[in-house]
Amino acid sequence: MNYQSIIGLETHVELKTKTKMFCTCRNDPDEHHPNILICPTCLGHPGTLPVINKEAVRKTIKTGLALNCQIPEYSKFDRKNYFYPDLPKGYQISQLYQPLCKEGFLEIDGKKIRIREVHLEEDTGRLSHHYVMVAGTGHFYLNDKPKEEEVIEKPPDNEEYSLIDFNRAGIPLMELVTEPDLKSAKEARRFAEELQLILRYLGVSDADMEKGQLRVEVNISLSKTKKLGTKVEIKNLNSFRAIEKGIDYEIKRQTEILKSGKKVTQETRGWSEMKGMTIGQREKEEAHDYRYFPEPDLPLLHSKEEFINKIKAEIPELPRQKRERFKREYELDEKNVGVFVYNKNLGEYFEKVISELPPKIPKNQLPRLIKLATNYLITDLQGLLRGESVTGEDFLITPENFAEFISLIEEGKISSKIAKQVLEEMFKTGADPSHIIEEKGLIQITNEAEIKKIVKKVISKNPKAVQDFKLGKKTAVQFLIGQIMTQTKGKANPQIVRDILNKHLTKIK
Ligand SMILES: [Zn+2]
Repeated sequence: MNYQSIIGLETHVELKTKTKMFCTCRNDPDEHHPNILICPTCLGHPGTLPVINKEAVRKTIKTGLALNCQIPEYSKFDRKNYFYPDLPKGYQISQLYQPLCKEGFLEIDGKKIRIREVHLEEDTGRLSHHYVMVAGTGHFYLNDKPKEEEVIEKPPDNEEYSLIDFNRAGIPLMELVTEPDLKSAKEARRFAEELQLILRYLGVSDADMEKGQLRVEVNISLSKTKKLGTKVEIKNLNSFRAIEKGIDYEIKRQTEILKSGKKVTQETRGWSEMKGMTIGQREKEEAHDYRYFPEPDLPLLHSKEEFINKIKAEIPELPRQKRERFKREYELDEKNVGVFVYNKNLGEYFEKVISELPPKIPKNQLPRLIKLATNYLITDLQGLLRGESVTGEDFLITPENFAEFISLIEEGKISSKIAKQVLEEMFKTGADPSHIIEEKGLIQITNEAEIKKIVKKVISKNPKAVQDFKLGKKTAVQFLIGQIMTQTKGKANPQIVRDILNKHLTKIK
């Protein structure tokens, strides 16, 4: 029998609030000048007192409710004591005994992953290292994200130092702990991706992993029986890819240790993107190492039913519900639904476009229009947007104009080739599509007599291609259609061109 991996996640989320967790300093992740968003309270000066940020409490409860958690009537804060240079107070205010939310679940791909708790604490300052020792190697590297060539034996004189920025110290940090219900690296990644999406839908955090707003730690143990194996924690997983690769690596490493008859050490390991491996950092601390005790400066928190109900009413449609509704209402396939749900703004724009379609469309025509709109939004418009959003100031196409554009294609007034030109122009100027078509003379030629004239002309000018056709070369037809399209600047209706051309070619003996 193979070893079964048991995985749990601990996720830290920086909440989007105006001010810090226990003081009135701004919470601004875009402030790049160090040590200016600070005050005596978040620097832990003697005599200062913390005040709980209500907005942070509200956002944590909102997250808990969206994750099907229970919200206990009372919760409280505790002190977690430890010394580290990024922690000015010498302790962190956190919640150990009575968290704000507990016992929920998040469903991914039909499987419920239980959430043990969601609690609230404060973030630490940010250390930036210059020449730092790579754990376990005895070598040094430059800055936070080393390149292979920067790894050296010994730093130059006076170059071995670290800087500290306390702007981040005291920012509201939500911690979400799962039960060990995950079985594979892929599942863990899917969980983190879905959680990120939910946090963004709720508006509680931008949850940008690169900026450290969403940080995932993994607990993993291997066992052949129901009894849990020794737990190893992996930190420093800065991307979804790192989560997946880190877990896969750790499963392999622990399997090899166990197969050779040795024991896995309980420890914290860091993921090294550069080396593609986890590296031992320190032996894992237990809760008692932190000498937790109730925070004496803060009162017990009472979450009244009315307060909770008000938050509940603010929860928007969540990704999973939206997926189901989009499939049901618009009959879209999984892939397109995925794009509209992940790209929330584009999904909302899509719905506005559909609602702007002419009201009297025959029922059998609607699915075709929806499909056209989906394709042009996901492929062509996203291409033009180049990563920008439809909610950006520079985006000029109104849903009404986009709906008209789709109708023009469906009615055959513009060919798909011309449609690309029209869309580009709409994107540049925001003009309405029928105006663009008229002004630039782009209306599709559907007049058969007119097309016939051009077909005859092209046939008489290309005797070689006609000869090839008679010899059975299929590509000759494509060549002739190309010639006709060039003559009409792409405006001829392709189906009519094909029909008339075939008719004429078969007539030639
Ligand atoms: Zn402060």
